[in-house]
Amino acid sequence: MLTPYKHEPFTDFSIESNRKRLESELEKIERKLGGTYDLLIDGEKVLTEEKITSINPGKKEEIVGYVAKANQEHAEKAVQAANQAFQTWRYTNAIDRANILIRAAAIIRRRKSEFTALLIKEAGKPWNEADADIAEGIDFMEYYARQMIELDKGKEINSRPGEYNRYLYTPSGVAVTIPPWNFAFAIMVGTTVAPLVTGNTVILKPASATPVIAAEFVDVLLEAGIPDGVINFLPGSGSEVGDYLVDHPKIALITFTGSREVGTRLYERAAAVNENQFHLKRTIVEMGGKDTVVVDNEADIDIAVDAIVTSAFGFSGQKCSAGSRAVVHEDVYDEVLERVVKRTKELTVGETTTPDVNMGPVIDQAAFNKIMNYIEIGKAEGKLMTGGEGDDSKGYFIQPTIFANLDVEARIMQEEIFGPVVAFAKAKDFDHALEIANNSEYGLTGAVITNNREKINKASREFHVGNLYFNRNCTGAIVGYHPFGGFKMSGTDSKAGGPDYLALHMLAKTISESY
Ligand code: NAP
Repeated sequence: MLTPYKHEPFTDFSIESNRKRLESELEKIERKLGGTYDLLIDGEKVLTEEKITSINPGKKEEIVGYVAKANQEHAEKAVQAANQAFQTWRYTNAIDRANILIRAAAIIRRRKSEFTALLIKEAGKPWNEADADIAEGIDFMEYYARQMIELDKGKEINSRPGEYNRYLYTPSGVAVTIPPWNFAFAIMVGTTVAPLVTGNTVILKPASATPVIAAEFVDVLLEAGIPDGVINFLPGSGSEVGDYLVDHPKIALITFTGSREVGTRLYERAAAVNENQFHLKRTIVEMGGKDTVVVDNEADIDIAVDAIVTSAFGFSGQKCSAGSRAVVHEDVYDEVLERVVKRTKELTVGETTTPDVNMGPVIDQAAFNKIMNYIEIGKAEGKLMTGGEGDDSKGYFIQPTIFANLDVEARIMQEEIFGPVVAFAKAKDFDHALEIANNSEYGLTGAVITNNREKINKASREFHVGNLYFNRNCTGAIVGYHPFGGFKMSGTDSKAGGPDYLALHMLAKTISESY
């Protein structure tokens, strides 16, 4: 019997023993850097000539690892293997599948500092953010294991005299998992184990910026007892193997998290019915955000300042939930702006080698260039209040940047920047603030800072986002507490870490028996 689900606690790095443990893991990781990682197809490790090189974005010359790079031939083998394995995995007992997740979670928990250290190196996360990312991965496994055991009972439907009816869930088939690099552990784990525990077999194509931590996780799944062919690891180029897998007629389910551009393209391709395909593909497509922190004139300004800074600059703004717009009531606009600028100037930026670095690098050169380009756009569209500088000589560092006095339609108010940039706009009143907040093609997260109950009720009804928070930041959703997923062009609103998520990976079957 499993204990009730509770989220994994975060590590307090002000405690010396915790700090020392992570320091020692970081030293150990440094000695391991530059290793080689294989593909996994049908339980066999496969090395390829061509490799993906994973680097530390905070120290470009540091190579985290070389990861085998799959081509379409490997992708075809992986689909065949996953399809073969599905024929038995689908009939395994749900408790046995759930137990693999529980075991994997236990292994990660034992090696938590090691995985945290690896994430600090491979994604450039600050210590607290890396720790939270690993904790979230553990949470997904613990939560989905318990959910599966419940879901396996099916749902209650009516029976009549002479007729016994059941409503049960059955797996879909071969799933392709395509995660992003920004929650290189948590989202990769969550979107891999959800199809697995529901009885599907999986081909995991990790993000090319962070494949090493994914390779390490796949080894944990093997150690936890996952059978051959049930999980296949296929790093490779999105356009080469990604497209091939998405188009493949034997793929039943695609679970993608990433940009709007790739997500919408994938969604469209997955809708096509190709030769020898006898089903419609299911898609879970979670995409970008342009998330807003609204500050009312009846608000606690300390909370507002904290919410804006945390939402905008946590993990250098590289979160789909990042609060990249602050919409502030004109009565408190100047005060909030001034205090946010002051707090932002105190943030430290650098390689995340110690717990006191607030902001690390952005992920790579392409991201650095794109964000710096948006900063130039921002300089033309608004008033630069702080930041605006970048330095890519050693790592991809960008200063936390604030622009003020933006027009609602400005590009930096509308487009996802995915970097440490926040745009301030002034609202006439609360209704106007909500109107601005809803003026986006995205609808992922939002926060409202107000002490007025009627305004809370109004925003609850009218602020059209998948995850709405009051009197706190708009980032940091926790599995089982804040099921996560967005409206509009933010995606299919699958609500990862929520009660409806696993059912999306399964087919519901009605069984009616006359007697
Ligand atoms: P991305 O460029 O769209 O990549 C996401 C994944 O798609 C990667 O594994 C990528 O592989 C793969 N890919 C690229 N082209 C492909 C293709 N043609 N077919 C199949 N797969 C393909 O996004 P990202 O830069 O990794 O992540 C940042 C984005 O994710 C942001 O927009 C952010 O808002 C969004 N995000 C959303 C959520 C959410 O829950 N809504 C959560 C986190 C992030 P390669 O790495 O090999 O290119």
